[in-house]
Amino acid sequence: MSINQSEIEMENYVRMEKLGEGTYGVVYKARDIRTNQIVAMKKIRAEEDEGMPATAIREVSILRELTHANIVSLLDVLVEESKLYLVFEHMSMDLRKFMDSKGKGSLPPELIKSFVYQITLAILFCHKRRILHRDLKPQNLLVDAAGRIIKIADFGLGRAFGIPVRTYTHEVVTLWYRAPEILLGSTRYSCPVDIWSIACIFGEMANRKPLFQGDSEIDQLFRIFRILRTPNEDIWPGVSQLPDYKATFPQWSQNTLASYVPTMDAKGIDLMQKMLAFNPMGRVSAKVAVKHPYFDDLDKSKYPSEDE
Ligand code: AMP
Repeated sequence: MSINQSEIEMENYVRMEKLGEGTYGVVYKARDIRTNQIVAMKKIRAEEDEGMPATAIREVSILRELTHANIVSLLDVLVEESKLYLVFEHMSMDLRKFMDSKGKGSLPPELIKSFVYQITLAILFCHKRRILHRDLKPQNLLVDAAGRIIKIADFGLGRAFGIPVRTYTHEVVTLWYRAPEILLGSTRYSCPVDIWSIACIFGEMANRKPLFQGDSEIDQLFRIFRILRTPNEDIWPGVSQLPDYKATFPQWSQNTLASYVPTMDAKGIDLMQKMLAFNPMGRVSAKVAVKHPYFDDLDKSKYPSEDE
């Protein structure tokens, strides 16, 4: 895309107030003057002194074809000098703000179930197309005005731009939703990392507090081990070969997840446990998770088909 062409396209949008700040840049509300549609425009800066890599532009362009009721649509991709603007459908608020607006206490059980189902459907849709999210967290789950539909934002950006240690405003990128294989230094991780993040969000909706709230990579791992036990070769073959594994890790030997998420029923805990399996190869896939008995009493006709 030539710069001149992009500049003309930028004129199609009137910038309004700032909506938030994400990992890669500021997000503004904007109006498409051609259609009057309200959109969310995300400005992504290239690394200092470098232009926007063509690979990143190609990667995000693919995401325009990712259309699903539970994925925030990427409507437009604009390039201007060293900046990339991604235009997304506008949503009411993110899950963090939604939860804060609900006061204290667990979210209603049917709402938790519906949200976990919708998120898992969206992840299934992307995993079938070999697209990972890699950075699922309440800030990039967006909720509609009625508080019934939840959509995943920022799909595929992790691959296009990488997951930095700090955001463009130097804030630390959260570790709370990160799978143990990544924390232990594995570089060949895959779809199971997104399932781990869904489980962390699942538990957080029930507890109204992050499940594993670490403030460093090692603290994050130990918080996971304290609740799920310390993994070993028996439950996770190959774990001791991972780059950051230490034989000197403290040994916690009990899984106390059920008592740690006391408001969740047995079927919910069973699904959460399967999503939090240490061994990525044994962790439940999105395809199997959507069929779990926890979702049996959900009216699935209200949601997109699992076969999309
Ligand atoms: P992100 O870069 O996706 O983490 O976005 C940062 C913040 O901007 C989010 O936490 C939201 O509050 C807001 N935001 C991002 N995308 C949208 C959107 N499509 N609609 C409304 N608000 C958004």
